[in-house]
Amino acid sequence: MNILVINAGSSSLKYQLLNPENGELLAKGLCERIGIDGKFTYKPQVEGKKVLDAVDVAMPTHSEAIQAVMNALIDAENGVVGSMKEIDAVGHRVVHGGEAFNKSVLITEEVMKALEECIPLAPLHNPANLTGINACTAVMGKDVPQVAVFDTAFHQTMPAKAYMYALPYEYYENDKVRRYGFHGTSHKYVAGRAAAMLGKNIEDVKLISCHLGNGSSVTAVDGGKSVDTSMGFTPLAGLPMGTRSGDLDAGILEFLMNKYGMNIKEMVNILNKKSGVQGVSGVSSDFRDLENAFKEGNDRAGLAVDMFNYGVKKLIGAYAAAMGGVDAIIFTAGVGENSASQRLAIASDLEFMGVKMDAEANNVRGKEVVISAADSKVKVLLIPTNEELMIAMDTAAIVKA
Ligand code: AMP
Repeated sequence: MNILVINAGSSSLKYQLLNPENGELLAKGLCERIGIDGKFTYKPQVEGKKVLDAVDVAMPTHSEAIQAVMNALIDAENGVVGSMKEIDAVGHRVVHGGEAFNKSVLITEEVMKALEECIPLAPLHNPANLTGINACTAVMGKDVPQVAVFDTAFHQTMPAKAYMYALPYEYYENDKVRRYGFHGTSHKYVAGRAAAMLGKNIEDVKLISCHLGNGSSVTAVDGGKSVDTSMGFTPLAGLPMGTRSGDLDAGILEFLMNKYGMNIKEMVNILNKKSGVQGVSGVSSDFRDLENAFKEGNDRAGLAVDMFNYGVKKLIGAYAAAMGGVDAIIFTAGVGENSASQRLAIASDLEFMGVKMDAEANNVRGKEVVISAADSKVKVLLIPTNEELMIAMDTAAIVKA
């Protein structure tokens, strides 16, 4: 079975063709500058097939982008499948499913309407996701099943005490203002892998999943269900991130807006694009740059990383308390998979709650491995995330059902 996984943005579109049954990746790539000058990248994973790297392809809309993907995948010389018939279904990453979707769904006209109703919740992302779906229908026809896989769906199991904000209740009832959480596909994937690594049923384990990358969130997963997560109504909440502030006292907004005569758009732009470790360090949003800058004596770069690590550590404590214990802590995404020093800083000094790191075992990157000491009551796991595979697995399960 071959599933095409699509992650559509407003002017770009990432794709992968993979087999969810054995995890085999056939090809991946990227359409960039859609609606501008069109750059197309194609990376077949089959020996002897030619890579295309940011070549010029006219892509006035997402439909031409999907057509370019199809042409490359079925190309007689460098394609990886014989024809479009060998693509069984398409799985789309959709950012926001609101309260309407608590799991992945087969896309129907009714679902498209419900997706449109979710646009106000993610005005920047959901319209692009919808465009990607329409483009696939235009190019592949109505007979190829398409599935929507939501970043928010996994978190729909949170209890009200975790997802409600202490605002007047009508803002929840009338306007759906609540915690939704994001990175759900990643948290779900690594939670499943963690249970497999522990040799236990997912129903029997309490996990804390730390997805630490340019965007970061931590999720408490009890018995396979998300019971709390650090991102909120939007992905701006929780940890300080590359350029996002994370949680802060809302009173600061009024103070700064009054003092500098800023409107709310300017303020929110600062919170999303100019804050986080970039804002504190003044150096970079990239954790590798911060590590290097700190080694060269830049204390603010060190402070930014310390604030981030401290934020993750506090969430681990909070979620262990929320679940009444924890069996394993998972590190994933760019920082979680690659930065041994940050993993160590985060998970050190937690012996009181049964977490004992193995500094040597931790000195790895990018593979599934236990990085806690043999006698650590709580296991610490490094698990590379694979959102595309999770999307393909969900898509296959729905199409087969
Ligand atoms: P992601 O959003 O998951 O792609 O993660 C991107 C982040 O991972 C960036 O801040 C990178 O600097 C960080 N990252 C990647 N490799 C490393 C590394 N070796 N050490 C520290 N951070 C890393």
